Amino acid sequence: MKQAAARRIFRLFPGYWNDLTLSLKELWEASATLFFPPVCYYCKAPLDSRAGKKLCPSCSEKIVLTEAPYCLRCSKTDVFLDEETLLCPDCRAKSRERDPLSRVLAGSRYEALVPQLIAKFKYGRCRYLADPLADIIMKHPEFGVLAPHIAAFVPVPMHWARKLARGFDQAEDLARELSRRTGVPVVEALKRARYNKPQASLNMKERMRNLGGAFLCDKKKRAFLKRQGRDKLIALVDDVCTTGTTAELCARALKRAGARNIVLFCVAKT
Ligand SMILES: [Zn+2]
Ligand SMILES: [Zn+2]
Repeated sequence: MKQAAARRIFRLFPGYWNDLTLSLKELWEASATLFFPPVCYYCKAPLDSRAGKKLCPSCSEKIVLTEAPYCLRCSKTDVFLDEETLLCPDCRAKSRERDPLSRVLAGSRYEALVPQLIAKFKYGRCRYLADPLADIIMKHPEFGVLAPHIAAFVPVPMHWARKLARGFDQAEDLARELSRRTGVPVVEALKRARYNKPQASLNMKERMRNLGGAFLCDKKKRAFLKRQGRDKLIALVDDVCTTGTTAELCARALKRAGARNIVLFCVAKT
């Protein structure tokens, strides 16, 4: 009863209510910067509060963003590119029909500060780093062009046991951050069928065997993928892309569920 009365009063003065919440928000933000001045997300050096940056200039300088010319299929920049197709030799050798993943869009090169940022995010459990890492993904030269055509961000899934041990899923955090900024929904369409050994310790053949049939598409998400994935892009999200095997298997599972055009967004390509 009391709540209903309060709601009625607020409805009578919507303008005042908005002004009050706005000024409270401003007051909170101002006192937050006064008591907790902004620091670099990585090295904790003080930041200029007006610039709204998350990393200090010295840390930002150590991130090598992907810039043209890069391979149109895998985003590699330090390779010879075919003048006509703009593809690297590896991607030219691959058959387009057999690869379910159309493109890998990596925001940066896996060097200098990027491996350390990712390690701190994942193994140091610093979830707030999803914010500057999502910035790196969004700085890919084509992110802005592709974003309006994306139907959903699909995180590359972690096995639930590993997620339980770490406390969070890094790909899911990155996808949520991208979603918050673009308005494109996160759809957790994939799950791991079984526990796999960490990929980093295996070679290419072992990776394939280790992951064989590892991903399943959630039955409830199939209708969405079929409907939305017909004309729009389905964007897988992961922190790092090494050989691309994991992403390819995820893309295959999404294709089986009806999606047509699948790309991968990641922070870095090794
Ligand atoms: Zn810094
Ligand atoms: Zn390539």
